[in-house]
Amino acid sequence: MARMFGGIHPADRKENTRRKPLMRPDSPPERVFLPLDMSSGAPAVPVVEQGQQVYVGELIARADGEESAHVHASVSGVVEGVVDYPFPWGGSAPAIVIANDGQNALCPDLPEPLSMDSASQEDIMERIQLCGITDMGRDASPAHWKILRARGRADTLIVNAAESDPYVTADHRVMLELGAQVLLGARALARALGVSRAFIAVEGDKLNAAESMESRISNRQERVELRILPSRYPLGGEKQIVRAITGREVPPGGEALDVRCVVFNVACALAVGTAISRGTPVTHRAVTVSGGAVNRPRNLWAPIGTPLTDLVTAAGGFREQPEMMLLGGPMTGVVLRDLTSPLLKNTNSLLCLAGWERPEPIPAATCMRCGQCVDVCPMHLAPVLVRRALEAGDMAQMYKLHPSDCMECGCCSYICPAHIPLVSIVRAGRKALEEEVEAQ
Ligand code: SF4
Ligand code: SF4
Repeated sequence: MARMFGGIHPADRKENTRRKPLMRPDSPPERVFLPLDMSSGAPAVPVVEQGQQVYVGELIARADGEESAHVHASVSGVVEGVVDYPFPWGGSAPAIVIANDGQNALCPDLPEPLSMDSASQEDIMERIQLCGITDMGRDASPAHWKILRARGRADTLIVNAAESDPYVTADHRVMLELGAQVLLGARALARALGVSRAFIAVEGDKLNAAESMESRISNRQERVELRILPSRYPLGGEKQIVRAITGREVPPGGEALDVRCVVFNVACALAVGTAISRGTPVTHRAVTVSGGAVNRPRNLWAPIGTPLTDLVTAAGGFREQPEMMLLGGPMTGVVLRDLTSPLLKNTNSLLCLAGWERPEPIPAATCMRCGQCVDVCPMHLAPVLVRRALEAGDMAQMYKLHPSDCMECGCCSYICPAHIPLVSIVRAGRKALEEEVEAQ
């Protein structure tokens, strides 16, 4: 089994959803709100007009530049216009509104399936770009752009199915139920990249998913290999997974490509597999809706652009008022003020936590120099020393401590017996250092 440095074992709280198959919402959303800005590049440009009938998979906004991604209709219905709509990270952003006609009618102009027996690198690249596929984990870079950057520089593809965040089981269900498409996507990504090695990385707590993938791989004598990783948060981080699989250490401030690796999320591999085998763009995704405030936690296969409030309705509504709502996992997710914002291509979970799931805030005590924050940091940082340097205003020392490498995984704050808010402190250290550099 591959190994990782640091990390913690928070309560995983996945038992409420890990055995629940993916299901479409009982009642489809009345409207979907598809933000133009769902990639790391420029927002896409609308190509539809108010009142236009659109079908599932139809292009509704064209990518604007290489680092941008097309947007496609996720339901069939009538375009109501482009409005400023709440965005999960705060504020609002232009989104195309489609009134759902409930017919789920597929666009008749979708491309034909591609055969992996004959598809060239360029055929696959073109298909990935055409289908608006982005990496669907924390990174929202367009997949074709990542491939272009990596060609000739990378020798290893890693499909990240670690899913180490507590509560979240959407990727687990994808591997169990849609493993053939994931495997096809991994093969296609490897071919488009021109790499010699491809791995699917699964955590050891998903043994049934790992076994299911393994049987598919051995049946087909694939060149894709399965790697089982220890169940440890935050293994899903890109640098951690590269190290665990290849033993290569991404340098401070660097990225996986610096050590000849490319990492794609398993949802992205699924999207690529579906684009190859059916010609279908990214219109839906698997999302875990969980937390103690939710009546029936479950995994949904939901149209992109579905308002989050509709996802909660599809999970039976609230059993009690949530104390906290998060998009993403409990350690790194974005705190939501309300549920109006839509499901994005890279949203894997919506968590609505009850009061008993949130630890009572405890006042910070004096550091006891136990060193646990150093032991658990997967980035080899020393949060305790960052704190000391920040308090002393010692920027020369701060520079040596590399606070900008922090991935904000939350392990240090979680483990600290003195309840010192170390993530905020490391973040403040990074900011102080940036200001110091700018002032020079
Ligand atoms: S310093 Fe950053 S990377 Fe290290 S444990 Fe804390 S939050 Fe995670
Ligand atoms: S874990 Fe907390 S108490 Fe222990 S050394 Fe780090 S900051 Fe100090």
